[in-house]
Amino acid sequence: SYSATSGNVKNPSIPGVRDIIAVASGKGGVGKSTTAVNIAVALGNVWKLNVGLLDADIYGPSIPTMMNLHQKPDVSEDMKMIPIENYGLKCMSIGFLVEKDAPIVWRGPMVMSALEKLTRGVSWGNLDVLVVDMPPGTGDTQLSVSQRLKLSGAVIVSTPQDIALIDARRGANMFRKVEVPILGLVENMSCFKCPNCGEKSYIFGEGGARRTANDMDLKFLGEIPLELDVRSSSDEGKPIVLSSPQSTSAKAYVDIAEKI
Ligand code: ADP
Repeated sequence: SYSATSGNVKNPSIPGVRDIIAVASGKGGVGKSTTAVNIAVALGNVWKLNVGLLDADIYGPSIPTMMNLHQKPDVSEDMKMIPIENYGLKCMSIGFLVEKDAPIVWRGPMVMSALEKLTRGVSWGNLDVLVVDMPPGTGDTQLSVSQRLKLSGAVIVSTPQDIALIDARRGANMFRKVEVPILGLVENMSCFKCPNCGEKSYIFGEGGARRTANDMDLKFLGEIPLELDVRSSSDEGKPIVLSSPQSTSAKAYVDIAEKI
């Protein structure tokens, strides 16, 4: 079976890169990018792997902000882009190449050719794991990325409410169709803990993702609470796994990174 930390899968699709793991969601805004970044940081900084982070979310790149990276990549002698590093992670994002507020209005084939450049047109060097922040949803782009990159596995992120879980199921079925192993389901924004009185509120319902994981025979990887520091650390460009390692969320991300 697959395990990122044990290193028993070889991936031939990008030379030097052992495994490619996608972090996906059925819909936008559920915390897919936040999860991708924090899992990548945990794999690199806590579990001591060589990690790359690819922002495949062409229409809404988040990695430049979340990883505090704003320079343009250099090009190597063999005409490949050199990934930009922070916190020990080699990162690549369309956001490094376009102006911050410029809309990206490409159609599907342009998106695919951009993604091709952002993956195989990059000198990643030797990586244990390349974590891919996928575009949200389950359309053509997601299918092509999954097939072309020969993913070692996929992590699916959902919030606990039905409407998000329906889409998470679609996501799981998409990966099954292309025979990508699903490493498990993460429940994000599982509950809100009041900073004043400490009471937990299950704003989006309780235990939804765990039930869906059971129903669909998927591994349940863990839950991340709705926590102010998760959001503020992302906005400030220092993921919570690094900025506040003792927090409930940081511990949960580290634990999830070990399980995949
Ligand atoms: P997606 O990639 O699914 O669109 P993001 O990771 O960009 O979602 O998250 C959407 C917003 O929610 C961001 O502002 C992010 O900081 C915030 N967020 C994500 N997860 C949490 C959490 N567990 N607690 C608080 N805020 C969160």
